Parts: sequence; structure tokens; C-alpha cells
Amino acid sequence: MLSNTQSETNATDLAYHLHSQTNPQALSREGAYIVVKGDGTHVIDENGKRYIDAMAGLWCASLGFNNQRLGRAAATQYEELGYYHSFYGRTNPKAANLSKKLVELTGMAGGKTFFVTSGSEANETMVKLAWLYHASRGKPTKRKIIARDRAFHGSTIVAGSMCGLEMMHREFGLPLPGFIHTLCPNNYRVRLPGESEAEFVSRLAGELERMILREGPDTIAAFIAEPVIAGGGIIPPPAGYFEAVQKVLAKYDILCLDDEVVCGFGRTGNWFGRETVGMTPDMMSLAKGITSSYFPLAAVVVSPKILEAVERYNESGTSFGHGFTNAAHPVGAAVAAETIAIYEELDIVPHVRKIGARLHQKLAEVTKDSPIVGNLRGVGLMYGVELVEDPSTGTPFAPARQIGARLAAIAYENGLVVRAMRDTVGFCPPLIIDDNDVEEIGAKLQKALRETEKAVQ
Ligand code: PLP
Repeated sequence: MLSNTQSETNATDLAYHLHSQTNPQALSREGAYIVVKGDGTHVIDENGKRYIDAMAGLWCASLGFNNQRLGRAAATQYEELGYYHSFYGRTNPKAANLSKKLVELTGMAGGKTFFVTSGSEANETMVKLAWLYHASRGKPTKRKIIARDRAFHGSTIVAGSMCGLEMMHREFGLPLPGFIHTLCPNNYRVRLPGESEAEFVSRLAGELERMILREGPDTIAAFIAEPVIAGGGIIPPPAGYFEAVQKVLAKYDILCLDDEVVCGFGRTGNWFGRETVGMTPDMMSLAKGITSSYFPLAAVVVSPKILEAVERYNESGTSFGHGFTNAAHPVGAAVAAETIAIYEELDIVPHVRKIGARLHQKLAEVTKDSPIVGNLRGVGLMYGVELVEDPSTGTPFAPARQIGARLAAIAYENGLVVRAMRDTVGFCPPLIIDDNDVEEIGAKLQKALRETEKAVQ
């Protein structure tokens, strides 16, 4: 697949680098994709070939791949204070100011920010806080977490347990007991023929309520959801979904945890995905777009009721027993502040809505007559194209044909980076894309799609 399998970097990489989410056999057969340089929305490989990265890396490099201001913000902070932590009441001005900014941006009035270093840690933190919250109110049996099929919440043991993806469980004996999954709100795959969207929503809420009653409401701590499912195949919920779900959660004293790791910071055409889908969470996890992934900083923003629980729990003088060495990092906080300042200067939310509508239109144009496209879905700058054997019935391709991966590989050869999630191909480009980028994505996708159609005939 790649022309540079003989390069020195590739040889070193093959010999020493154990990759994330990579098939080892395919890697040794085909070699690694070696990226050496960024140029706005594009990346450049060892041979000087340019690719438009329509996945912003891992849905994260919202400001592209070589933003100079972020580099300068980091360099300035490294010269001033290159490290400090947040244990034992320590802080630094950059972290303090960022904590305020995040509370304001998320609309968690009266809340606070807890810093971590990855999306997985942020989600694990929300689970610990949910346990602490119920324990502090004399309800220590409320421990179980309900997540959803096709969800992705990270790779650590608890975050992995909350994923609704077999790939995240298989090798590790996960999910842990007490981590359960309800239906995925997928309009294309889970909604029944003849079922209206409203009927679908009430079935999903009904299923959730039956699960709660079956398990025992006194055993359930929280429900966790991405506003729009990302890694599970880009799945926006049906209209009214979160309103119906949250009614059920409120009835049984179950917290709502909002995983904004992908959807946060403009991705869905609002500052946070929760605004797009009408969700009112008790806590929000933030990562990726918070620094455009130029620094591994992440956060949880908690509502006042969670804060009160932390305070009550530690009333006797004990300390809140949770935290990470590199959390509230001054350099990460400086990069995050600069990232957010740039989003504000670019007026990123209206930009995403406008350019997102153009990307959607372009994807619709390119895919509309394809004999292998069953569904195009998404919002903001987050779209999925689902490939199927028969668009009239939605019959999927046999998994062994790996059609999504095939299209992604052909697109890559054509200078377009997309991501296959089973047979759904994802488009989540840097938020700074412009009209030319949209045209380039469209033209390259069209070519790759035609080649894939021929290959499967
Ligand atoms: N939550 C969502 C929705 C994600 O997509 C991811 C990663 O892609 C995570 C959590 C985990 O984030 P991290 O890889 O930073 O731990």
C-alpha cells in the first residue's frame, strides 16, 4: 500500500514501536504511515506527498497541524514555568484562569473544573465522582454505569468498560461487572421499519427504563453518553432523545455524564455537543479540541451538586483522593487558553455551521448515486458515510470484505485521510477548513468511491 516501506523510519518503527489500535500483521506487511510535517489542514509524508486530513488526526487537531501561535504559547510558558501540579492545594495562574474559562464556556454556573491529561482519565474521573456523589448522600449501592452500544469512551479499564464496542473488550475480559449497555440510538440501523422517529425515541427510553428496573434503581449511579457518537460510527441521536432519556434518569436519581471529548469546542456547530442535542448533564468531560491536541490536557467540568458532594465527603478533614501528576499543567493550560482565544477570534461556531453545511452538501452530491452508499449522516463538521451492499435494503457487506477499510486505503492513496469505523467512513476535518478544502475532499472522495465501487463489482 505504501511506497516507503523500506525507509529507515519505517524499519525502526517496525522493530520498536508497538502501535495503538493497529493490526500487527497488516503493519508489518504494509508499513507505517509516516507523517513528517503539517501544513494547515494538510499533512505531508516522508516522500513529500500531501494529504488532506479529513479526520483532524483523531478528531482533535481542530486548528490544523502547524499552528504557530500554539507553538509560541507553549514556548513562552515553558520559559516562565515549565511544570507545576494541583495536589495539596497547589496551582498556577494559567490553570486557575482556564478553570474559570471552562466553567463559563460550558455554562456550568457555580461549577468547577478538574484537570486531567486524557479523555479516558476524564471519563474515569466522572465515574469516581458519580460514586462519591451517591455515597455522600447515603446511597453507596448506586454504583452501576449505563453506557450505550457503539459508544467509545476511552481505553483505560473503566473507560474501556463503558465502550459499547467488542474490540475494546475482547482481549481484556471487559466490561467490568457493573458496566452495562443500552441500545444505540441509531436511526439507520436500530430504528425499525415503519417506526416513526418519535416512536423510536419512546422505545429507546422504554428500554432504558426496563433496564433500570431490572437491575434495580438503587444500584445505578450514572448514564454516560457522547452527544453524537463518534468512534462507533458517527451517530447523531434522533430528535428528542436526550429529553426522553433524561426524564427517565431523573425519575430514578441517576446522574447524566456528558462525554464531550469529540463533540466539544465547536465540532457539532455549537460550543458543546450538549447544546446541539438538548442534553443537561451533571458533568462534562473535555479533551482533544481543548488544546487542538497540541498538548495532552483534558478536564471534567462538574455542576454545583457534585461539588457539594465532594465538600461534604471531605468534611472530616480528609482529602479528595484523586489526581494525576501532569494535570493542570501550566504549559497545557497556556496552550488551551490560546486555542480557545483563536476559536473566539475565528468565530468558530458560525464558521463550523457554514462550512459544515457545505461539506454535507458536497458529501451528499458525491455519494448520492453510488451503488454502495446506504446512509450519510452527521452534523456540524462530523459526518459518516455508511457503505452497504444494497442501498435499497440497507443490507451490509459481509464483514470479511472490509469495505470501509478498503475505501479508506484507496482514499489515502489519493491523498485523502478518512477513517473507517466498520463500514462507516468518517469525515471530521480540522474546524479551520475552507471552501477549497471542501472541494478537495469531495473530488478525492469521488475518485476513491468510484475505485472502490469497481473493486467490489
Ligand atoms: N471519549 C471519546 C468520545 C473519544 O472519542 C475518545 C477518544 O477518541 C475518548 C473518550 C478517549 O480519549 P483519550 O484517547 O484522550 O483517552
